[in-house]
Amino acid sequence: MGVFHGEREWVYPKDVTGRYHRLHRGTAFLLHIWLLLGPWLNFQGRPLFRFELGTRRIYAFGGIFTAHDGVLIMLSALLAAVALFFFTSLLGRLWCGFGCPQSVFIINWVLPLERLIEGDRAERVRRDKKGVRTSTTARKAVKFIAFALIALLVSGSFMGFFVDPRLLWTGGATTGNYGVLAFFTVLWFVDFVWFREQLCIYLCPYARFQSVLMDEDTLTVAYDMNRGEPRKKGKLTSGEDHCVDCNRCVVVCPTGIDIRDGFQLECWSCGRCADACVDVMDRFDLPSLVSYQTEADLAGRPTRWVRGRTLVYAGAFTALLALFAASLAFRAPFEATVNRAPGTLYVVDDEGFVKNTFLVHIINTSADEHTFTINVAGIEGAEVTAPVTTIESTDEAIIPLVVRASPDSASMRTMPIVVTVLRDNKAVEVPVTFKTNAQDGGL
Ligand code: SF4
Ligand code: SF4
Repeated sequence: MGVFHGEREWVYPKDVTGRYHRLHRGTAFLLHIWLLLGPWLNFQGRPLFRFELGTRRIYAFGGIFTAHDGVLIMLSALLAAVALFFFTSLLGRLWCGFGCPQSVFIINWVLPLERLIEGDRAERVRRDKKGVRTSTTARKAVKFIAFALIALLVSGSFMGFFVDPRLLWTGGATTGNYGVLAFFTVLWFVDFVWFREQLCIYLCPYARFQSVLMDEDTLTVAYDMNRGEPRKKGKLTSGEDHCVDCNRCVVVCPTGIDIRDGFQLECWSCGRCADACVDVMDRFDLPSLVSYQTEADLAGRPTRWVRGRTLVYAGAFTALLALFAASLAFRAPFEATVNRAPGTLYVVDDEGFVKNTFLVHIINTSADEHTFTINVAGIEGAEVTAPVTTIESTDEAIIPLVVRASPDSASMRTMPIVVTVLRDNKAVEVPVTFKTNAQDGGL
């Protein structure tokens, strides 16, 4: 056995064309548009979508979210999870076959490049079995360089959702950023060269728990045993529709499984085996033996698209979506908290007036710079000293607030007051207490 064969059970998927192959091309095109162009797009002068870890900001479609939007961030993560449950219960592993970067890159980069550089399945198997030869090694070297460049491209594009790509691709990012870029490039390179379908089989958590989300009414890629068995090698006679055991559905599979063995964890639901069987069965003017079906379809029962689990997931999704929309609609334009300044509770000045000092913490959560003013209500005639402050978008400031009350109005030891922080026509009111020496008998 040649060194390129090795201990690893290599899969040599054969090229295939057909309806699902074209669908792969379409979804891969859209995903690549988003991956390659998304990080460069701006909206209202800000990134269209970016997680900026340094400033702990998330830019998303015109909005800016900070750590103070934890509820919204948690709700969006829950929404994504429940949406995945819902679609998996209905459509099975379509995400794996058509949306996951792992399968998208393997089907659209790795396999075509491998075919271009090393030839189709039979040639690749033959070359690898022969082991180290100059032409094979040279082709492998060219392939590895191509994989390294693709790994760099996809890693850099992905990092553009975290770091400004204009800085990243022009040498202006930090050393740490380039370290992370190098790390992800190496990971993708090893994945393209060696790990491939093993990642789905041994590491992917979604592959493991998706069987819990699916049932006999979930769409999967399935082989019709009723029509296909017993297999009959060779030509069909008129009226028969057996599997001709041509193995086409097996050799095109990127995970190297035989769909005729039934549902398997390794199956991506990519439909390449269905394309292959369509091609074979077309010659006999028969429908494919492999297709997207539910177990119920195959058993001759109607598929129940509306059932308990889909209703539960749909209900949870709708409730979370409503909660998310309400949280977004009622999101405070800014946040304000008021704390007493460390030190004494109050100070009595030379004129006998009582002064309390507070610290007002304002976070401007909006997408624009704003000016904030502070008012105080609750003590008649109290003097309020607090600078008018302009705060940049998503920035924050701590503003000293001094409330000074005359001996006549500061008549109780503890007096409730309300600090109002104003921005344009929006206000946040914070109740606090004003402390005096009234009970000490000094007033
Ligand atoms: S069995 Fe068919 S659908 Fe499943 S991974 Fe292989 S080719 Fe794709
Ligand atoms: S491609 Fe179709 S006919 Fe050929 S082995 Fe697979 S199921 Fe049978």
